[in-house]
Amino acid sequence: LIRMWQAEVRVDLDAIRDNVALLRSRTTAEVMAVVKADAYGHGTLPVARAALESGASWLGVCTLDEALTLRRAGVTVPVLAWLLAPGLPLHEGVTAGVDLGAGSLAQLGEMIDAARRAGRAARVHLKIDTGLARGGATPADWPALVEAAAKAAADGTVEVVGIWSHFVYADAPGHDTIDRQLDAFREGVATAERLGVDAPYKHIANSAATLTRPDTHFDLVRPGIAVYGLSPVAGERYGLRPAMTARARVTLTKRVPAGQGVSYGHTYHTDRETTLAVVPLGYADGVPRHASNTGPIELGGKVRRIAGRVCMDQVVLDCGDDPVAAGDVATLFGSGARGEPTADDWAEAVGTINYEIVTRFGGVRVPRHYD
Ligand code: PLP
Repeated sequence: LIRMWQAEVRVDLDAIRDNVALLRSRTTAEVMAVVKADAYGHGTLPVARAALESGASWLGVCTLDEALTLRRAGVTVPVLAWLLAPGLPLHEGVTAGVDLGAGSLAQLGEMIDAARRAGRAARVHLKIDTGLARGGATPADWPALVEAAAKAAADGTVEVVGIWSHFVYADAPGHDTIDRQLDAFREGVATAERLGVDAPYKHIANSAATLTRPDTHFDLVRPGIAVYGLSPVAGERYGLRPAMTARARVTLTKRVPAGQGVSYGHTYHTDRETTLAVVPLGYADGVPRHASNTGPIELGGKVRRIAGRVCMDQVVLDCGDDPVAAGDVATLFGSGARGEPTADDWAEAVGTINYEIVTRFGGVRVPRHYD
């Protein structure tokens, strides 16, 4: 049965499998596929399964809900959740065997309480802030966090599975913060060992570090964007294959005269008699409104710029005298293999990063189909 679609996001799971295999081939560490934010818009469960089939042995998410969703779907590999506000039902995570990232004494304390309630040890990854100044304990607060974890490990409420951190600038290979963070990380690990905590998994590498800095791999790498075939480093491809395509069928075309203003605010005017094509994807679907008059879309074998403002549900293309017709497929981005724009092209056009482009297309309205 072929289901008719008017707009769709296609995800090529073979590309996901190939990308994970490529990442695996570049490291001797275990691979955690990062599938937070609905797998960067690609769909958590299909991506998680494809990544695990291809040799990833861990999954990484932000929220407790994301981790529990994986467990409820029957995923049994280690899952790390690392962004946890106070007051969450962490005991549900402990009961489900979810690994939890702790970056403060307060967070660790909640995990200890959750372990008592669940009647089993919480699997904890202690996070040291080596410079990003986001999650994690500062080097000054680190010994106290480690000491508390050592005490909890001794009384059986905590199992310290990991010590970890996150890079500021791994996407700029050679940036001096990388070495500085790596030194701080090694120091944090040494401090923990001195205080009696020897975690089996040390991890700090995201996609960029996985691809460019083998000396950052330790026991586990945490690639996200590269799993989806997008490069974390501008201008490099690393042989990755973009997995997501976003496309839509033209709903109608019409001839208009020269000087016709197009879309809200008439920010675009036709410069000749021309054919306009309406493409049914808008900002409610993930097209950034900043793409007004700039976002590239392939239609009829040519890459065209959106004419006028991006609307909530649709955009307009100025197609000149090209023979475009209702029902033709307009491709916003894909792998680029057929000359269509890529998520990188979109990121450049609207002044953002490829991460944001694909993640935005994980919304509720556009159906997602898998190859
Ligand atoms: N690890 C952590 C803590 C993250 O927050 C992220 C994503 O932002 C990743 C790993 C994966 O990063 P990337 O998608 O750049 O590989």
